[in-house]
Amino acid sequence: MSDPETLPVRRIQRIRHELQRRDLEVARVEQLSPNFVAVTLRGESLSSFRSDSFDDHVKLFFGEDFKRDYTPRSFDVVGQELTIEFALHGSGPASDWARQAAVGQHLLAAGPRGSMVIPPDYDWHLLIGDASALPAIHRRLEELQPAASVVALIQVSEEVDRRSLPTQAQVQWVATHEALQAAVAAWTPPKGEGFAWAAGEASAMAAVRRLLVAKGLPKEALRVSAYWKAGAAAFHEALEA
Ligand SMILES: Cc1cc2nc3c(=O)[nH]c(=O)nc-3n(C[C@H](O)[C@H](O)[C@H](O)COP(=O)(O)OP(=O)(O)OC[C@H]3O[C@@H](n4cnc5c(N)ncnc54)[C@H](O)[C@@H]3O)c2cc1C
Repeated sequence: MSDPETLPVRRIQRIRHELQRRDLEVARVEQLSPNFVAVTLRGESLSSFRSDSFDDHVKLFFGEDFKRDYTPRSFDVVGQELTIEFALHGSGPASDWARQAAVGQHLLAAGPRGSMVIPPDYDWHLLIGDASALPAIHRRLEELQPAASVVALIQVSEEVDRRSLPTQAQVQWVATHEALQAAVAAWTPPKGEGFAWAAGEASAMAAVRRLLVAKGLPKEALRVSAYWKAGAAAFHEALEA
């Protein structure tokens, strides 16, 4: 367990952004793999778009009644483009929309409202997630220095959805929640100050968090979020002790 004298200080920086709602047009649709679709949105209002952290989210509006959170996977304020990667699943307004997305359609996007910036200079990084978190993990890997020490434990149910990721990461792909938990249980915290980030299904993430806490990781070095919950629509929660 960690010695309280040497506990890392909380170094996450919170940044607030003015909330803006943007009417965007689909500029490109790319099927990345059978269960992932990248949709690039374009609009002049994106010239003021800001996203300082890989785990930021925008709210996307699917008609009047449905809004869902998605990661700004990449953006270009000069080119006024924002790309979102949708993990396709059984059915839901967001996933259904992504399946039929076509150039010229419009989508409303709000935010990000703020960013929680996790510094890149930790001695090591652990990234854990399922398909819903893969866009955020991929962005983080692109943003970290090539020399960063990173382990990524990623769950996608079908092997065809595995992808090549920036090479600094030691990546382990798994297919089930149970295998993800086994991979987390088998992971040993390296020496030095590190940060563990995890996101995915609510109960799976609660189990992941318990495993990380049991390894002695202090809560200052942890950020675990539920990006969705089996059987519930539009669920988002930060998991605390
Ligand atoms: C901060 C944040 C960032 C996110 N970033 C992304 C992202 O970049 N890409 C991405 O694909 N998702 C992302 N998600 C997850 C996404 O918001 C949810 O999966 C959302 O519920 C999908 O909406 P829906 O309308 O398709 O389904 P909903 O109407 O919300 O749910 C319908 C049913 O589908 C189930 N379901 C929902 N999501 C999934 C899933 N991923 N896999 C299997 N079953 C599911 C629900 O349990 C429910 O039974 C993010 C979530 C958060 C909180």
